[in-house]
Order: sequence, then structure tokens, then C-alpha cells
Amino acid sequence: MVFEKDISKKIKSNSMHLSAFLLDWFDENKRELPFRKNRSLYSIWVSEVMLQQTKVDTVIPYFNSWMKKFPNIKSVAEASEENILKSWEGLGYYSRCRNFHKAAKIIVNDYGSKIPEDWDNFRSLPGVGDYTAGAVLSIALNKNYLAIDGNVKRVVSRITRRKKLSKYNLNYIRSFLSKNIDIIRTGDFNEAIMELGACICLPRLPKCRQCPLNSFCAGYKSGTPSNYPQKSVIKKVPVRTFVGGIIRFKDRILIQKRDSQMLNGLWEIPMKQVTLDSNYIFDFKKYIFDKYGYIISFKKIISEVEHVYSHFKMKLIVMDFINCDDVKNTGNSFSWIYKRDIDRYAFHRANHKVFKLFKSFNWDV
Ligand code: SF4
Repeated sequence: MVFEKDISKKIKSNSMHLSAFLLDWFDENKRELPFRKNRSLYSIWVSEVMLQQTKVDTVIPYFNSWMKKFPNIKSVAEASEENILKSWEGLGYYSRCRNFHKAAKIIVNDYGSKIPEDWDNFRSLPGVGDYTAGAVLSIALNKNYLAIDGNVKRVVSRITRRKKLSKYNLNYIRSFLSKNIDIIRTGDFNEAIMELGACICLPRLPKCRQCPLNSFCAGYKSGTPSNYPQKSVIKKVPVRTFVGGIIRFKDRILIQKRDSQMLNGLWEIPMKQVTLDSNYIFDFKKYIFDKYGYIISFKKIISEVEHVYSHFKMKLIVMDFINCDDVKNTGNSFSWIYKRDIDRYAFHRANHKVFKLFKSFNWDV
């Protein structure tokens, strides 16, 4: 982070050329995005949370509908977790959403519904790290903080020909930005360099000829800008196999609510991880009996769906079962729902792929 005092000292000893070129380009070329129209602290914060690990095109419709549904921090705090998760459904990385909900409640209870504008209090909120605090406070309030995301690291590592994103080089990048940031337009500077990374200084094929910073860029002058920074070795993602059961009773199906660190609070069809040598059907029937006391009868395998999470790939074998017992119990953690009510619940993404199968699934078999 860079404080006002620090920048003022640095700015006297450094030329403004790079930031001037960058800001001129940004003023002319920045994309029209919904979160660039409303510059409130709340709206910028929502957009920054949604944009973490997620592409702009994916975020736009979520951002628009979120702002209609939850126009301010109080409306978020007052909403149920179920409602919040439903609005986030499909965006992934649900801990972002849960943390935002927790932060909103803290702001209502401890700050009289006013989002704190100073670094220490804002940074202490759940889900707010250095990047989010720097981006939100600089973009919404033009405060003098850096915001260094993956795009920014790539752009600066190319300009300065830093091969590895080591601790030393990350400090070097931070120091480079501190020296070159525009003290008058800190928020715009942060946004501009991120925008340059997103639109011009692309990971594989940077558009150097169109780049406003090519005269400053050592990577471009080297002739191999995309060699910077060095790619990290991609680890092979393990595959985990699960059986998911569409367990029917008349015209209803059984769903359960997750109570685990991953995807906590979201709904799913009952599913169980299996090993390749196990008897999938037997294991799944036993799992349902042990968990719910239902005796279920296997009908057929419907299909297989795959979904990639950050740390594993899920192979989900979807099977059709009939529940042989009468359905009496519904609790907070499970429910027998009608097919038409599926959209009322927030499911994780792998389940959306399962529900697509419903179109081709003969419900009445
Ligand atoms: S000149 Fe090329 S490599 Fe350098 S910052 Fe611009 S787009 Fe990136």
C-alpha cells in the first residue's frame, strides 16, 4: 500500500511520463462498463468482489441484477443467506459472497450502515484483502493506494523485464508502481493499468503496437514480451468421481444443503464420492439409508457430467432412483421439492449441468 505522504515525496523525483501516456490512453479507450457509471463505494466494492477470479463479461449481468435487488449495503445485511446465495448462483467462489454478506452485517451493526472509508477499518472486514482495499478505496474515493492484481503484475513485469514473480520482484513491481502512479488520479491510474492488462497486454499475444507504453517497455524492446513473467508450471488437477442420485418420490426429488467448507449453504442432489473399485450403486444406496433412513431402488444411469473446480475435476455419474419409503421428513438441511421449484433454490454449478439433463429425462418412468 502507498500512503499519500509517501507518494508526494516520490512524485517530486520521478517523471510523470508513463502515467500521462497511460491515462491519455485510458481516457480514450476504456470500456463502457456498468460499474464505471456508478462510482459509489458500495457499487465499486460489489464489482471488485465479483471480478475476483471471474471475467468481466460473466460479471456484468450478475452485477446489474445484484444492484437492482440489493441497492445498498443495508439491503445486503437484511437479506437471508439463502437469498444472497441465490443471486450469486453460477458465479462460483461462493466464499466471496458469504464474506460480503458478513461484512454488510458488520457495517450495519458497527458503523451505522456507512461503509468505512479508512484503510484499517475497511481492510479488517471479512473477505477484504490488500488488493480489494486498495482497488475500492482508490477507485471510489481516489485515495492513494495501489491495487496490484494479476493483470498489473503481468504489465509491470514486462515493462521492467522481471522474469519470475518472486518476493523480490513483487516488491520491485510495487516500488515501480509507487514511483509512477499519478498522485492526482490514483484510482484512474490503478484502473488504467488493469485495463491495459485486460485489453492490450494480453497473456499470450500482447498487442504491443497498440500499447501506449511501448516506448517504456523493456519486454517489448527485447522482442519477446510474452516471456515475461515466466509461466508457472501447471499442476495436474486430480479427478474425483462422485455418484449423484436423482431420488424421486412421486413428482418430487430429494435435495440436500451442503454443510462444508466448500460450497457451504448451497443445495445439491445427494451425492457421494466413490472409488473406482467400489460398487457405486450399493455404496450410494447405503449412504442414503445411513443419512436419511430411506430405502431406494436403482432404476438406471442417466448420464455423466464433468465440472472443474480450482483444485480438482469432478466426474459425476448421475443415476435415477425411486424412493420406496413414504416421505414425511423435511428439515433445514434437506427437502423434497417439486421439479417446477428447482429455480427457487441456489445450487452449485455441477448441479446446473445435472438439471439440464432433466429436459431429456423421462420423469414419469
Ligand atoms: S509494450 Fe507490449 S508487453 Fe509492453 S506493456 Fe505494452 S502490451 Fe505489454
